[in-house]
Amino acid sequence: MRRIDLHTHSNISDGTLSPADVIAAAVEADLDVVALTDHDTLDGLPEARKAARHYGVEFLGGLEVSTEHEGVSVHLLGYGVRPDDADLARELAKVREGRSGRIPAMAALLSKFGMPLDAQDVLKQAGGAPSVGRPHVADAMVARGYVADRREAFDCWLDEGKPAYVGRYTPSIERGIELIRGAGGVPVLAHPWGRHSRDALSINYLEQLIYCGLEGLEVDHTDHDEATRAELRAFGAAMNLIMTGSSDFHGAGKPDNPLGCNLTAPEVYDELVGRIEARGGVR
Ligand code: AMP
Ligand code: FE
Ligand code: FE
Ligand code: ZN
Repeated sequence: MRRIDLHTHSNISDGTLSPADVIAAAVEADLDVVALTDHDTLDGLPEARKAARHYGVEFLGGLEVSTEHEGVSVHLLGYGVRPDDADLARELAKVREGRSGRIPAMAALLSKFGMPLDAQDVLKQAGGAPSVGRPHVADAMVARGYVADRREAFDCWLDEGKPAYVGRYTPSIERGIELIRGAGGVPVLAHPWGRHSRDALSINYLEQLIYCGLEGLEVDHTDHDEATRAELRAFGAAMNLIMTGSSDFHGAGKPDNPLGCNLTAPEVYDELVGRIEARGGVR
């Protein structure tokens, strides 16, 4: 049985390993297929693809697009998109600008709350990553000794609704779906009922998204308990959706999400790849 993990992050966004090291870790974790899905950027794919060829592991290119519905942040995985698609590239650049643009405001809020920090500290933690995120703010807080780890930083300060949270630009889910499909890719909702997004994603609304072109749900994810997975699986089966399972690996940034902790069934993966090929996407 092929071991398939379709959701991982490198240090091109908020993971802690380089793209090549994610692939090396995937081999170590005995995976047969791995997808790299950094937040709002495709920049890590060439290095990962090259490493995958070197190690003899099958690779699928992807990304995780930041979107929103009714002001709630929702993550949308896109598999097999063409990196040269101009509409997608333009929108991703806009999202990344919003990511970097809010860092000074977050640093100012933390400073106001007695944790002096500036944007440079955060950019140093990001190490040149094109996609800068709150996890890098968290790393800067850890480096200064304000919190023990990323989790504490999020729980006390950075999460939506917490004192140092600052919003940023994201497209609607519908627009995200359109852009991914327009670039030859397959859109799959990431951890739809994890953390914050459950209330924003009612069954009725999920049905609407399917009419907009949504093709899959990430059912097996650390953020979903067994009951949630069963509910999503029943809905996905009724709607004939692609249902994936993945780790959402972030290296040391998310110790509860080791590579391979959730897997995608081989026949589901084959269906996904078939759709990408049929619409001119790239693996
Ligand atoms: P951002 O991309 O700036 O919106 O920050 C969201 C990212 O932070 C997500 O992609 C997660 O990887 C990460 N994250 C959210 N909550 C936590 C947490 N409790 N511990 C570690 N990382 C987290
Ligand atoms: Fe992340
Ligand atoms: Fe996510
Ligand atoms: Zn992710």
